[in-house]
Parts: sequence; C-alpha cells; structure tokens
Amino acid sequence: MADRFFDNVMPDFVRETESEAGGDSLTNLLAMPYSSLSQLLKRSALDLKETVVMETWGFSGQLVQDFTLYSGALGAAFLLFRAYQVTGNANDLSLCLQIVKACDAASASSGDVTFICGRTGVFGLGAAAAKRSGDQELLNYYLAQFRQIRLSSEIPNELLYGRVGYLWACLFVNKYVGAETLPSATIRQVAQEIIQQGRSMAKNGSSPLMFEWYGERYLGAAHGLAGIMHVLMHVQLKPDEAEDVKGTLKYMIKSRFPSGNYAASEEDRRRDLLVHWCHGAPGIALTLVKAAEVFKEREFLEAAAAAAEVVWNRGLLKRVGICHGISGNAYVFLSLYRATGRSEYLYRAKAFASFLLDRAHKLLSKGDMHGGDSPYSLFEGVGGMACLFLDMVDPFQARFPGYEL
Ligand SMILES: [Zn+2]
Repeated sequence: MADRFFDNVMPDFVRETESEAGGDSLTNLLAMPYSSLSQLLKRSALDLKETVVMETWGFSGQLVQDFTLYSGALGAAFLLFRAYQVTGNANDLSLCLQIVKACDAASASSGDVTFICGRTGVFGLGAAAAKRSGDQELLNYYLAQFRQIRLSSEIPNELLYGRVGYLWACLFVNKYVGAETLPSATIRQVAQEIIQQGRSMAKNGSSPLMFEWYGERYLGAAHGLAGIMHVLMHVQLKPDEAEDVKGTLKYMIKSRFPSGNYAASEEDRRRDLLVHWCHGAPGIALTLVKAAEVFKEREFLEAAAAAAEVVWNRGLLKRVGICHGISGNAYVFLSLYRATGRSEYLYRAKAFASFLLDRAHKLLSKGDMHGGDSPYSLFEGVGGMACLFLDMVDPFQARFPGYEL
C-alpha cells in the first residue's frame, strides 16, 4: 500500500519560532515563521517558473506540440499569469501572451472545448491576460474565438473533456474580464442540460444525479460527480436543481469508505486506493468546502475535514504535480484554512509545501518520486509545484488551477 505515498511522519502541528528549531532542514522549515517561509517558497517558485518555461517552450524552439493546460504549453502560460499576479512583473504577462498565441495556432484542429484540456483554456487565459495588459483588440479577438465554440450534443459532462469544463472556462472569463462577458443565460442553459442528463442517468437510484464517462460512473473531480457538482455550485440554479446537487453530494458522503476516502467510481467500490485530486478524497474535499459555503450546512464542512484527514495521512504522494501529486493535495488544506481560519490547516499546507521544497528535487533525481510523462507540466509535473509555492504567498488568494475560482 505504502508504495503510492510516503508515510507522513511530520508532526501534527509545529509552533512557529523566530529562532532556529535546531532539527533537520525539514523540521526547521516547519517551525519557520510563515512570512519567512512564504518568501523562500516564492523565490523557489520563480526559479522553477524559469525552468518550466525553458523546458516546455524555450528548448522546443517555441513550437507547441501539446497545447493543453493539463500537460502542455498552456500550463506554462498559466504559471506565468499567476506569477504576474503575485509579483506584477510585466515580462511574465507578455511571455504568457506569447505562449497563448502559439497555443492558439497549435490547437486550431482540436475539438476539445474545456479549460483544462481544450480550446476555451487558450481563449479564456488569452482573454484574461489581454485584459490585464490593456490590449483591447487582443481581448476582443480571444472573446470572439471563445464565443465561436459550440458544444456538440455528444460530449460528456465531466470536467476534463465535457460540459462543466466548458462552463468553468466561462466562469473564469467572467471573473477575470468582467461579469456577463459571457451571458449568464448561456451558462444557465448549459447547466440545465447537464442536470437533465444527470437526472435521467440517475433513474431513481440513490443519488439524484449521476453521470458516466466512457461507461464508468466516476465520483472524483476530474471525470466524476465531484467535478460536475463543483462547477454547478458556481451557477445560479433553480431551487429544485440546487436540491439535486445537494442531494448528490450527501449521497457521496454517505457512500464513502470507512477510512473517509472515496471510491474512484461506482464500478470500483472495492479498492480504497487513490488519494488524488483526480480520484479520491482531495478533489472531493475541495468540492465539499464549496458546498459548505453555498448550502451553509455543517455536514459539508465536517465531511471536508474528514477528507482532509485522509489527505494528511495518505496524501504525501510519490509525485509532485497537482492532479495526482503532493502539490494538488496541499490545496485541500489551503481551502479549509480559508473556510475555517484554523491555523492547523495552514500548518498542514505548509508541511506539504515544505516537504516538496526540502526533498522533491532529491527524491525525483533518485527516482524515489516519479516525474511522470510530462515532468514540467502544470497538472503532472513541477509546474504544479511552482504554482502551489506561488499560492502559498497569500493563502487567501490561493486557488487550485482550473478548479477553484
Ligand atoms: Zn490525476
């Protein structure tokens, strides 16, 4: 079992101290005052960003093979945009726009419509960055491209390739460009279609809504119920629709494993194995924090806290990225910290980030952590680690890329 993750032997809580804690380098990081640690993380993030841009963009002769946010060049552009938000460095913003432009060309024949794996990621990020740079013409171009995207009736509903992945991109544009840039009537219409399909797939089962992706009924953030419910909770729903979203989340909580973790899918209920953002407790915890905010019921915050315990105990994964790595799992603690204000959660985010800062490079080079197929990418590689380190600078502004708004 333990070959998926490192045993978490870090203390449950360490008080910050101005003087050296006198332990090994990780122990010293855990005790360091937040203001000093976050500066260390920021410096490391900015160094990592240079590496990520070089590896995914510079060395390839600026030719984009994989344009996606998930594993390709758009992930580097997203990281540059995030760095610009933290430091205000205009070079990052202009390089971000240059990469988005190349992604636009490279994605011309793609039929994918989501933020994380499709073209609305390119146009959405392009619009947000153009808005920041004050380039109205470029902003208009990306918005026009975005508005030309049509959803086929065949596409699934999940986050990585389906309808909610398109909806998330709409919400991102409205946040970074302006409310109603993409009309809420359009957003509502897509949400309504998703709910109709969810109801018909549920067919009087225990959950009010159910969805399939390639024949499997997933529960997690990437392909399943958690991801779909998470995006729907950002949309103005009718009371009966909101009740169904709430009921679906309660069904998920009721059917979790005794350990507090969640199955990957209805078809895979025997294996309590994955503690990833994509499958398992971490992605579901982020959704439950949002549910607590929207529905204002204690049950959701308690379930999120229980999921976060699983993440603390089994979430120190042997990968660095945000999809199924330590960086993504750290966002669970940041989210709970924002929701509760409890310093224990900030400590836990700090602990996961400190573990990465202290050990990731060594563990990766020794092969004790896996670099994955796209070792510099945002979702699977050190791009995600850089993003987490930037998000640690101000936990109140932290957002899981492509998921939290
Ligand atoms: Zn994953």
